[in-house]
Amino acid sequence: MNYYTTRAFVLKKEIAEEKDNVYHFFTQDFGKINLKAKSSRDILAKLKGHLEVPTLVQINFSLTYQPRLISALEEEPYLNIKNNDAALSAALRIGQLVDELTLLNQKDLEIFTLLSETLYFLDRNLSKSPQLIDFSWFYFEAQFLKLLGYEPFLTACVKCAKKDVHYFSFTERGVVCNLHYHQEDLPITANQRKTLQLLFNISLRQVDTIKIITQILKEKRFLEEFLSRFTLRVKSDIM
Ligand SMILES: [Zn+2]
Repeated sequence: MNYYTTRAFVLKKEIAEEKDNVYHFFTQDFGKINLKAKSSRDILAKLKGHLEVPTLVQINFSLTYQPRLISALEEEPYLNIKNNDAALSAALRIGQLVDELTLLNQKDLEIFTLLSETLYFLDRNLSKSPQLIDFSWFYFEAQFLKLLGYEPFLTACVKCAKKDVHYFSFTERGVVCNLHYHQEDLPITANQRKTLQLLFNISLRQVDTIKIITQILKEKRFLEEFLSRFTLRVKSDIM
């Protein structure tokens, strides 16, 4: 039998038939993999505590016959996140998003690093401000879509390059002028464009003050609508 070891984020847990659980992981060396934790209740009981979302674990698994989890060793439990309902729900959304938009067995170190940096940032700074929760979710969603190859075009109308733009077209994945706008497009202000540009291009290492987070979250309602519609558009493209 072939055994493998890698570091992995727990993305999601599915209760399968009987007592077998299927865990979805995003791993450092193999990308997303789904593994069954099979057989005796003893093994599951031993593993269970380490396999809640979000946890970074070192896993040992086999791929012969049926992908199967052998053991899991906790590396980072993110306890601050787990002890805060809103932060935990953001982490669950992050896991769900990665699970839905990645293919099995496609190694991607950038996605692995983004998961690692975002969860670390949220866990370490959570006590400073509750705003960090919304920010971390927006940051992750934007940066993740960018890594998948989807970045909104925000500098000029995608159709005619005119600078005077007031709408965002999800079909065109960019801003459009009054001439090229359609009814379903989202109105966008100059400040909202600036906020998006910041969110899609900032690195967490630059976020050393609450000020920048407060500035971004002034557009919270817009960001919620924009990112969820943009994600839907990417989903329909990928699937
Ligand atoms: Zn135009």
